[in-house]
Amino acid sequence: MALYVQKFGGTSVGSVERIKAVADKVKRFRDEGHQVVVVVSAMSGETNRLIDLASQINDEPTPREMDMLVSTGEQVTSSLLALALHKLGVAATSYTGGQVGIQTDSAHTKARIQRIETDDIQADLDDGQVVVVAGFQGVDDEGNITTLGRGGSDTTGVALAAALKADECQIYTDVDGVYTTDPRVCSKARRLSGITVEEMLELASLGSKVLQIRAVEFAGKYNVPLRVLSSFEDGPGTLIVAEEEEEASMEEPLISGIAFTSSEAKLTLLNTPDVPGVASKILGPIADANIEIDMIVQNVAPAGDYTDFTFTVAKNDFKQTRSILQDQVIPALGGGELRGDENIAKVSLVGVGMRSHAGVASKMFRVLADENINIRMVSTSEIKISVVIDEKQMELAVRALHTAFGLDKDSIQSE
Ligand code: ADP
Ligand code: ASP
Ligand code: MG
Repeated sequence: MALYVQKFGGTSVGSVERIKAVADKVKRFRDEGHQVVVVVSAMSGETNRLIDLASQINDEPTPREMDMLVSTGEQVTSSLLALALHKLGVAATSYTGGQVGIQTDSAHTKARIQRIETDDIQADLDDGQVVVVAGFQGVDDEGNITTLGRGGSDTTGVALAAALKADECQIYTDVDGVYTTDPRVCSKARRLSGITVEEMLELASLGSKVLQIRAVEFAGKYNVPLRVLSSFEDGPGTLIVAEEEEEASMEEPLISGIAFTSSEAKLTLLNTPDVPGVASKILGPIADANIEIDMIVQNVAPAGDYTDFTFTVAKNDFKQTRSILQDQVIPALGGGELRGDENIAKVSLVGVGMRSHAGVASKMFRVLADENINIRMVSTSEIKISVVIDEKQMELAVRALHTAFGLDKDSIQSE
C-alpha cells in the first residue's frame, strides 16, 4: 500500500465528464489498496473568468477580496469530485485549503505556505476516506483566505505530499509529461523520462508553466518524488529527480529544454550619468514599489560619460514602472530619456550539461542570426542562457534552437 497525492489541473476537471473520469482513476488506485489525497484546480477558464468579473466591477481590486473570489473555483471542483466518488461507492470528503490546515503568510495572491497540520487528513485516510483538497489556497493566521499565485495547485499538491511523507506526488495534466519544450509550440518536442530538480526549477522560472516554480522548490527541499503525467492516457510521464539520482552512465545532454515567455516588458533609460549610485537610484524606487526586476543591462561608457540602462519587468508591472521612472527617477537623476517595449519575448536554453561545455552561447547566437532574429539582451547562469528578442519571432526562435541543439523527436539523443 502506498500513499499518493494526485493533483488534477484545470483541463483535467474541465467538465462534468472529466470530473467523472478523474473519479474513475482515483477509484482504481483505491481498489489497488492505496491511500489517496486528491488536489484539484478550478475548471479550466474559471479563474480567469472570476478575475474578469472583478475587473468589470473595480479596476483596482484589493488582493484580499481577489483571494476570496478566485479561491471559490477550486472549492467547486473539490466538492464535485467528492460527489463523483460517492457515486462510485468510494468514501471521500472535500475540504478547502484552510480546512485541511494549510497555513500561509498574509501575502494575498502570492502567499507562501508556512505549515500544514496533517492530523485531520491522516485520520480521514486511516478511516478509508479519499481526501479531496481544493488547491491553490490556504488561510493566514487571522483566518483570511489566501491564494498561492497562478498555477498554485501544483504547490498545494507537493506541499501536502511533503507534509504527509507521501510515496509520490503525481501531477496529472493535459500533456503526458515534461517535454524538451512546450509541445503546443514545437511539434517535434520530445517527452523527457526524467529531469533534474535544478533544470526543472530553471524551466519553470523561465516560463514553462507545466509546473509552478514553488512546487518544484518544495519537491527539491523536501525530497518529494514528483511525477508529471497525463490525465487522459496511461504512461510513465516524467520523473523530477535530484541530480545525484541521475544514472551516472547516462550521457548528459548539453541542453535539456527550452523555455520561453512573452510576459515581460523592457524599459530603457537613455543618457543616464555613468557615475556610482545610478543603478540604485533607478532600481531603488521600483523595488520599493514591490516590482520584481528580471534582466538588467548597463552599457559600458567612457569614464565620465553617459550610458544606457535597460531592464525587464513583468508586463503587468510595465505601466507602473514607467510612471515611477518618469515621475521619480528621471527628475532625481536630473535627466534621461525613457523608452519602453512591451512586445518582447525571452527564450532560454536550460541544461546542466552546459556547465562542462563552452560554445553554447555562440551556437545559440549563430542559430538566431541565421533566422535573422535580433538579440536585444542576454543573461547567463551556469545552466541557462536567456535572450530577449522580438515577441513576433519567439516561436521561430524556439523551433530553430530545438532543431539545432538536437532536441527534435526524430534526432538521436539519450534522454
Ligand atoms: P494544468 O491546468 O493541468 O495545471 P497547465 O496549463 O498549467 O496545466 O500546464 C500544462 C501546459 O504546460 C501544457 O498544456 C503545455 O502547453 C505547457 N508547457 C509549457 N512548457 C512545457 C514543457 N516543457 N513540457 C510540457 N508542457 C509544457
Ligand atoms: N486555478 C488556479 C489558476 O488558474 C490555480 C491552478 O490551476 O493551479 O492559476
Ligand atoms: Mg498548471
